[in-house]
Amino acid sequence: MRILILGPQGSGKGTQAKRIAASRRIAHVATGDMLREAMAAGTPLGRQVKPIYDRGDLVPDDLMIDLIRERLEREDGYVLDGFPRTLPQAEALDAMLAEIGKPLDAVILLQAADDVATGRLHARAAAEGRADDSPEAIRNRLRLYHELTEPVVERYRAEGTLVAVDGEGGVAHVETDIEDALAAVGARSR
Ligand code: ADP
Repeated sequence: MRILILGPQGSGKGTQAKRIAASRRIAHVATGDMLREAMAAGTPLGRQVKPIYDRGDLVPDDLMIDLIRERLEREDGYVLDGFPRTLPQAEALDAMLAEIGKPLDAVILLQAADDVATGRLHARAAAEGRADDSPEAIRNRLRLYHELTEPVVERYRAEGTLVAVDGEGGVAHVETDIEDALAAVGARSR
């Protein structure tokens, strides 16, 4: 199954994407993780994106599209997390999946209000110390989500493929809601 998970920073998207991928034995394809690995390894891509990442800005579309294309061509089943974040990325994703003949089976939107999301991100900042969890970078990332990623959400909503799930509850509760949503989509497509 090919699943796309969308939602703001702090909605629990990464946590849930990992759990869904593990329970279905499919890959967790997370662009943020791919970039953090490139930065940790000090690759040319990693060095290029580091200042952008640390500010909480978005990496240019062309770099992200090249990065994800190579990965999605190799995977049959996955939970895609962190891409697409802009309309050009969404268009590129649609085109590449059509080209390789492997469309998405489900699009999940994990919802959380800004105050809940911000609270979770500040808590994570204290626990993990991620470079882009400074108060300024958190504000910037949520601003960019509303400005550039919400139009992507609306695009999938208009296509009728999007299922919204409330992400404000506890981890296990949200996971059950996502599994229910996926089961409903699976039942419809059979
Ligand atoms: P979060 O969703 O909490 O911001 P991610 O780990 O998904 O965390 O992404 C961290 C950072 O990686 C982003 O702020 C951005 O700099 C970069 N990034 C990840 N995915 C993309 C993407 N699809 N387009 C542009 N930049 C991206």
